[in-house]
Amino acid sequence: MPHMMKWWGWGDPKLNFPMADKPNLWPWVAKKLGIVSAVPTAMPVDLSSIQMTPTQASTELLAELRQILKPDQITLDPFERLLHSYGKSFPDLFCVRNGVVRRAPDAVLLPDSHEQVEALVKLAHQRNFCLIPFGGGTNIVGGINPEADEVRPMMTLSLRNMNRLISIDPESRTATIQAGALGPKLEADLAEQGHSLGHYPDSFEYSTLGGWLATRSAGMQSDAYGKIEDMVVSIKMITPSGTIITKAVPSSSAGPDLNRIMVGSEGILGVITEATMRVHKTPAIKDYRGYLFKSFEDGVHGIQECLDRGFAPSMIRLQDSGESELAFNMKAPKHGLEGWIQNRVKGWLRFRGYTEPCILIVGFEGAGKSIAATRRSALAILKSHGGFPLGKSVGNTWSKDKFNIPYLRDYIMDYGCMADVAETSILWSKVLPLYTGTVEAVKARFRQEDGTGYIGCHISHTYKTGACLYFTFAARQPKGKELEHYYEYKRLVTDTIMSLGGTLSHHHAVGIEHRPWMNQEVSPAGLQALHALKTSLDPKQVLNPGKLLPELDATRVSEQAEN
Ligand SMILES: Cc1cc2nc3c(=O)[nH]c(=O)nc-3n(C[C@H](O)[C@H](O)[C@H](O)COP(=O)(O)OP(=O)(O)OC[C@H]3O[C@@H](n4cnc5c(N)ncnc54)[C@H](O)[C@@H]3O)c2cc1C
Repeated sequence: MPHMMKWWGWGDPKLNFPMADKPNLWPWVAKKLGIVSAVPTAMPVDLSSIQMTPTQASTELLAELRQILKPDQITLDPFERLLHSYGKSFPDLFCVRNGVVRRAPDAVLLPDSHEQVEALVKLAHQRNFCLIPFGGGTNIVGGINPEADEVRPMMTLSLRNMNRLISIDPESRTATIQAGALGPKLEADLAEQGHSLGHYPDSFEYSTLGGWLATRSAGMQSDAYGKIEDMVVSIKMITPSGTIITKAVPSSSAGPDLNRIMVGSEGILGVITEATMRVHKTPAIKDYRGYLFKSFEDGVHGIQECLDRGFAPSMIRLQDSGESELAFNMKAPKHGLEGWIQNRVKGWLRFRGYTEPCILIVGFEGAGKSIAATRRSALAILKSHGGFPLGKSVGNTWSKDKFNIPYLRDYIMDYGCMADVAETSILWSKVLPLYTGTVEAVKARFRQEDGTGYIGCHISHTYKTGACLYFTFAARQPKGKELEHYYEYKRLVTDTIMSLGGTLSHHHAVGIEHRPWMNQEVSPAGLQALHALKTSLDPKQVLNPGKLLPELDATRVSEQAEN
């Protein structure tokens, strides 16, 4: 299992958050969150103490599965079952760290071909057992968790053995790739042929093409290449009612776009086995730079003008003062002459009004000449909004450290704190009210306790019409009431975002965690349409039950129809 993550946290089991080279960080975090203990107080339980319920897969069912799969493609191993019980949300990690496994899959199935997946989906439909499509298990919405009160056997269908680049068409700039390909392998295979997909979510190292498609994921270069759904040319998806195959063509008007129905389907409509994706030549230049703004508002206006005037960078990350403070505290202090110069510059910036500065990282990718003009114009616009250039080192440090940040949550959880994120997208005209409203709501909640807590925000995916806002919040938790405490914050943040006009999720999807708000998000009739699709493709509800769709509220649907 070379790519498997920690069972109790994020990432490589051999790596922890590199705190030692950041002497300012822990004192700052501890003060923000009111942590007084010098030693961890909430470490994960010992793995050997976790009680796994016995598998409910009968010998008859296992025998039928062995007609389709080889013995080493079916595992009942308790550790494998544990690894497939949870994704990586805060509640997932809190439960598993405390040894609570509400329901583990009864087996993990590892098909290696489209035909094997077809046979498994057919058998699940015939024998009425559940299948949960599983990519990398990095979702943070409860997307792959077996439903606790499901009485039927539940099998996880892992795509990890279906990870090949099938073919590439350099003339059309498309590549056909199996759905279980993890980010690094997919990019390495494409790079060998001089191409790139350009999809880099923060979870890149451990998430898969199938997972990205099923959740409508967004990578950090989405400003240049779009979200994953914008890169899709065609998809193969196996449903209990048959296999849907869309044509690999640049565009079509043959009825509603089935690709758009399959993306975001979160494993409830079918299993995606492969997709043809738009790719591009490996960019010759990747240029990241940092800027400092006096306020979040100034940075927002700078970005808007770049987009309006057609000088969009390929990557934008504007951090508010909360996130920027975190970033400053991650830097090792400089000493000697360098330290003296740094302090002088800081003093000068404070004097010029950069008292609560906001960092903007911008990236430009492409061939030398083609990006030079865009970069020149974009940087001039940013300067005209008060952007103070920090140079390439800030951009390069961010680029180097970006995959380390997720490890910080585990570190904080060791001290009895929760840390979570909430993301949305909203029209430009409402970006600042939503930003202020959400930050203020969470800070007011902190004040109801002892005033400690952290909230920060960044804008990371932009559009002509608006942007994605990504909030990170953390707080110390009352012992014994951790999940109730967490869900108070989750409800507060999501209700606030929804009431201020944001979408329920810009790229993390729905899963279990966002289901209660789906009615509000898509309207009752919209929900009815999604239910009809589910019933038609998966009449026995064997695929990933309990995700994405809340129960239909029949009264509200008919009320809306009458109005
Ligand atoms: C630290 C961290 C950082 C993250 N950063 C980002 C980010 O920058 N951008 C972003 O978009 N997301 C991010 N995420 C969320 C997560 O990585 C994405 O949702 C990702 O797309 C999930 O991919 P996966 O392969 O891990 O899917 P899984 O978690 O295995 O599955 C997610 C959902 O997709 C379904 N599914 C998976 N494979 C298939 C398939 N082949 N066919 C049908 N259904 C399938 C599952 O049933 C489930 O409903 C982050 C998560 C973490 C923990």
